[in-house]
Amino acid sequence: MAKQVVTRTYTVSIKNQQQVSDDLDSLGFTASKLWNVGRWTCSRVWDEIDYIPEHDELTAYLKSHERYDDLHSQSSQRVLQELAEAFNGWYGKRRNGDTKANPPGYRKHGDEHPRSTVTFKAAGFKLDTQYNRVRLSKGSNLKEYWSDFILCEYQTRPDVDLSTVENVQQVRAVWTGNEWELHFVCKVEIEVAEAPGEKTVGVDLGINNFAALAYEDGHSELYPLNCLKQDDYYFSKHIARCDASDSDQATRLNQKKSARRTHYFHTLSKHIVERCVDEGVGTIAVGDLSGIREDEENDESKNWGKHGNLDLHSWAFDRFTDLLIYKAEMEGIEVEEVSEEDTSKSCSCCDRKRDANRVERGLYVCDKCDTVANADVNGAENIRQKVSPSLASDGGDRSNGWLAQPLTYLFDKETGAFAPQEQVTS
Ligand SMILES: [Zn+2]
Repeated sequence: MAKQVVTRTYTVSIKNQQQVSDDLDSLGFTASKLWNVGRWTCSRVWDEIDYIPEHDELTAYLKSHERYDDLHSQSSQRVLQELAEAFNGWYGKRRNGDTKANPPGYRKHGDEHPRSTVTFKAAGFKLDTQYNRVRLSKGSNLKEYWSDFILCEYQTRPDVDLSTVENVQQVRAVWTGNEWELHFVCKVEIEVAEAPGEKTVGVDLGINNFAALAYEDGHSELYPLNCLKQDDYYFSKHIARCDASDSDQATRLNQKKSARRTHYFHTLSKHIVERCVDEGVGTIAVGDLSGIREDEENDESKNWGKHGNLDLHSWAFDRFTDLLIYKAEMEGIEVEEVSEEDTSKSCSCCDRKRDANRVERGLYVCDKCDTVANADVNGAENIRQKVSPSLASDGGDRSNGWLAQPLTYLFDKETGAFAPQEQVTS
């Protein structure tokens, strides 16, 4: 066993909700307004000079804007950073040929502003673990009221003790739809296993196969969405049949559906980490999908990832990546998030890059080296090569189409675990 410092996010409830909700509301609305100012500025600059400003440029430009001082300066900075990340996420999708991807939108519903998440960094909060209280700073514009900070009394889960963590890096106030809650992002020292080996694996997350894995020694695995698709079909059918007068019934079905999805993600991330341990993997490379999430939280590009009956939002991929990182860390396996740029367009054998998408029936066909590969596996292998530039090999013979013949794992509802396709009866 070894010790390692990792990042953990703990969700805590606010005990004095009634006293603080008005103040938190005003910060949340303010964050949305600042986002909109930033979003509008990006459009203006884009119209003028065909360029979207970076996060630091946007901050420098808007620092003197009235809205900027409505929040603590670090909180305002974070809002503009999220906006820049959302734009980058959108570029990434466009570059990968997703023409349906939408740029980040405005945070507005009619005349209403949604309550955006507000982030407080080191200078913006003061934590008192003895009395379970945290002071959150307001911006200088909002300080004219009775107090210049919001004092939240919080309650952690019984197994979380904030006084034992290395340090708390940031606090986020998040509106759940019913009430405010706090997320503490902490550095925590944990006991981890020694890394099982030094090999690498690439993981491509997508909507055809939820995950495609390409191992260094050349074999590959696919995890199709069969089970989630069946679930979605089942639940949407039953929800549609719900009696309109009994809205609880639909709510219950929705909760059940989301619980099953969570279970699926937990099981899959656990399975992948177990496979990595078996294969002596020390590093998992996974495509970085961050930045798209922010936009969707605010009801804009809801259709991203819509695939048949399946409404799989990109936050599902984010959530899955978090679970994967969490479970891998415990086994001493490092997870590196790498840019997905060009990973679906390039041939993983000869590096030839195509402008047009040459994916036919799920196969990537290279006209230079004649490689025929499963398209998702080709993407996963390109992602893997970003952390380990060596070509995958299968003993020197690359002509037998190993990339085209991945092993498919399915979720077996009877055992509640993943197993090779031929062992699953369904
Ligand atoms: Zn090629």
